[in-house]
Amino acid sequence: MPSTLEAPVALLVGEGLPDYAAITPEQVSAHMPGLLAELDQQLDRLEAELSAALEAEAPLNWQQVMGPLQRLGERLRWSWGVVSHLNGVCNGPELRTAHAGQQAAVVAFGNRVGQSRVLYRALETLQASNDLDATQQRILAAERRDMELRGVGLEGDAQAAFNATSQELAELSTRFGNQLLDATNSWSLLLTEAAEVEGLPESLRGQLAQAARQADHAEASAAEGPWLLGLDMPRYAPFLKYSRRRDLRERLYKAHVSRASGEDGGNGPLIERILTLRREQAQRLGYAHWADVSLAAKMAGSVEEVERLLEDLRAAAHPVALQELTELRACAARAGAAEAEDLQSWDVSFWAEVRRQEAFALDSEALRPWFPLPRVLDGLFGLCNRLFGIRINAADGEAPVWHPDVRYFRVDDAGSGEAIAAFYLDPYSRPGSKRGGAWMDECLVRSVADDGRPVLPVAYLVCNQSPPVGDTPSLMTFEEVETLFHEFGHGLQHMLTTVERPQAAGINNVEWDAVELPSQFMENWCYDRATLLGMARHWQSGEPLPEAEFAKLQAARTFMTGAATLRQVHLALTDLRLHSQWTPEDGRSPEALRREIAATTTVIAPIPEDALLCSFGHIFAGGYAAGYYSYKWAEVLSADAFSAFEDVGLENEEAIQATGRRFRATVLGLGGSRHPAEVFESFRGRQPSPEALIRHSGLVAVA
Ligand SMILES: [Zn+2]
Repeated sequence: MPSTLEAPVALLVGEGLPDYAAITPEQVSAHMPGLLAELDQQLDRLEAELSAALEAEAPLNWQQVMGPLQRLGERLRWSWGVVSHLNGVCNGPELRTAHAGQQAAVVAFGNRVGQSRVLYRALETLQASNDLDATQQRILAAERRDMELRGVGLEGDAQAAFNATSQELAELSTRFGNQLLDATNSWSLLLTEAAEVEGLPESLRGQLAQAARQADHAEASAAEGPWLLGLDMPRYAPFLKYSRRRDLRERLYKAHVSRASGEDGGNGPLIERILTLRREQAQRLGYAHWADVSLAAKMAGSVEEVERLLEDLRAAAHPVALQELTELRACAARAGAAEAEDLQSWDVSFWAEVRRQEAFALDSEALRPWFPLPRVLDGLFGLCNRLFGIRINAADGEAPVWHPDVRYFRVDDAGSGEAIAAFYLDPYSRPGSKRGGAWMDECLVRSVADDGRPVLPVAYLVCNQSPPVGDTPSLMTFEEVETLFHEFGHGLQHMLTTVERPQAAGINNVEWDAVELPSQFMENWCYDRATLLGMARHWQSGEPLPEAEFAKLQAARTFMTGAATLRQVHLALTDLRLHSQWTPEDGRSPEALRREIAATTTVIAPIPEDALLCSFGHIFAGGYAAGYYSYKWAEVLSADAFSAFEDVGLENEEAIQATGRRFRATVLGLGGSRHPAEVFESFRGRQPSPEALIRHSGLVAVA
């Protein structure tokens, strides 16, 4: 029997800042099943109550339906959120096993809520009542839409068919991903001659030697080889960029673009099946095709609207990409390379790198001393103070942390001094126990507790940069600085929200194609003279970053952007049309449709071996189906938002501050409480335009 003296189980506290050190893998295995069982019972009770009310045709109010639902969801989010967080930042075999052991049950609970017919009917009844504000209306509409897209509104045979197809689609996706992974891993090429690794930087040779050692060549070394080449990105991309051996680049490229396309175990047959099933699912839900299902939950209003944007970008990028190709040919010709007249896809990365060195001689490693983390943080916090009127103060020691390197900060309103939010920063890589990459996640979401106290938002900001060594602080590359600004942008939307309903506070309920607006917006400031030169100072001498280096950074930003933009347009358009135009009766194969699109979206036509669709995991094995365009869509928003600052003049301090305050009040403050088009318009005074993105990408001819 639990005694009153017993400390509460840290995993189940359910509110406030988690006590990370006290949450153990044993707790996860011991207490998650109990929590889920309890939530299941609460859901049973809620369904019974609502069912009775619906039966009696009694009116329903927000507190009766959304209150309990929110509390259920929050208890699970809090506990499972901290487990998932720890799994990302303090991974170990025990925690990984404990996490994996509970995941299916957590997903099953989510499915149960999402497919509850009683809840759905209660939401309908609630939506019909007249006393809801705009935020509540939007939360309800999103909730109902998500349930509808899970098939809650279907009856009998239609629902059975829908569920069976969902199941088959999930299996096909998994198979697609596994076969792609197998195909990627099954190809390798052992290089044994020094001539075969000519041009490769030391770090890449080391990586290839390490791969060789793992494949039974214990003697392999960076200097002497052998070196094992493979198709994974960390080996593939730099090899194409640096290898002087054109024949090897060609072999590698052809192996890469033909992945998972073979007769045996290839993804080809899965593609038509997946597209056919998605179309059927869409029609069961009352939509014409899968693209309309995808867009039902996005900012973009229609397939036509997305097509228009992609065409604007295509038209701007195509001539620039052709020009870039001409420049690469000229560069190869100057070097006396035989391929100058016949540049192929496997030559592009290599000559682009030569050209980049020629044009900018920008060495990203050499800039590290100008970006010590403490100075970069000062610069970032100073910028946030200028733009948004907030003050960020270190509060180390005021909150429990999961590792001694983790820092804790408080965010106050600079005007009123009032506390607004807080965040953790976990900046350094910890190979072996911390997931790679960088991300922002929610620790606490803004809301009002049952007793009326406000709950302030708290964010996790996680990066993976090099740790300090001795007296040397963490010295960042420019890309790492951009990453930190990016994640901080997500964090700002989470922390500066003014919405008190957690379902729409911060990043919650923000459409997927709009959620990268604040993050990409913040990246723009890394190229702003005052911001960058203000923070980039040599960590020992205090010297500012030389003007010439700043100019190189700015010039490098638009290098080869024609090709990069065109590539994204090619992928996005292929994805969109496969999910809107293609049908099983089409007569064209999906690959044939893709090649038609390639005629205007590539400057070097795909070679016969190129089976892009067989490795397009984003749309066939991931969640991007008819959503790949989102990358570009969000970039339009972020570039256009930044251009509001350019319009008033980046040197005009007063106007910059006023514009920043407006950004805080709209984009950052309103979060998911309004449609993103409405939020954008309230900031910009008009609908978004791709003009700023096209200009920032250097895609306009300079007269
Ligand atoms: Zn992001």
